[in-house]
Amino acid sequence: MKNTDIEKVILSAETIRSRILEIAEEINQHYQDRVREIILITLLDGAIVFTADLIRHLSVPLRLDCIRVSSYGDSTNPETAPRILGSLKSDVRERHVLLVDDILDTGNTMQKVVSEVSAKKPASLKTCVFLNKPERRQNNFQADWSGFNIPDEFVVGYGLDYAGRYRELPYLGTLMPSIYTQTL
Ligand code: 5GP
Ligand code: MG
Repeated sequence: MKNTDIEKVILSAETIRSRILEIAEEINQHYQDRVREIILITLLDGAIVFTADLIRHLSVPLRLDCIRVSSYGDSTNPETAPRILGSLKSDVRERHVLLVDDILDTGNTMQKVVSEVSAKKPASLKTCVFLNKPERRQNNFQADWSGFNIPDEFVVGYGLDYAGRYRELPYLGTLMPSIYTQTL
């Protein structure tokens, strides 16, 4: 049953599931026989659902780490300068790093995280995003793996939130316009 706050479903749970199998296969092929282990760094909080599903289909051994980046807060407008909050548990120097995020929008978050992680001299650095909104890009950042291109619409579900809500929905959708005018 669709949540009544959702206006339209953009990606069904089944569509998401089958695409994740494809991306996992591509990632497996990329690392297979090449690296012993990767450090997979997930960007909290949005990427947790995608990461949880993706890693269960990865055959390359991995260590999981996370970074929290300052987010939208309760609005739908991205902050222009994302800030990295907290630090990594692992030493990524000479390690193979895969960064995973929920959505590549302006590209500012990934660009910032990539530059901070690269400064620590990993052996390799790849990026994987669940969603891509090409129309909104403010730089020329491109992810190595991307699940779906979507139009310039604010989406929730499958880990993505509005004011902390809707992350648990197994599908991706847009919200009813009335939700944005309600007091939180
Ligand atoms: P950036 O603009 O830096 O590429 O993306 C920043 C962050 O904004 C993403 O990691 C994601 O958390 C959030 N974001 C961008 N577009 C959307 C959207 O449509 N819905 C939600 N819930 N978050 C978004
Ligand atoms: Mg995010």
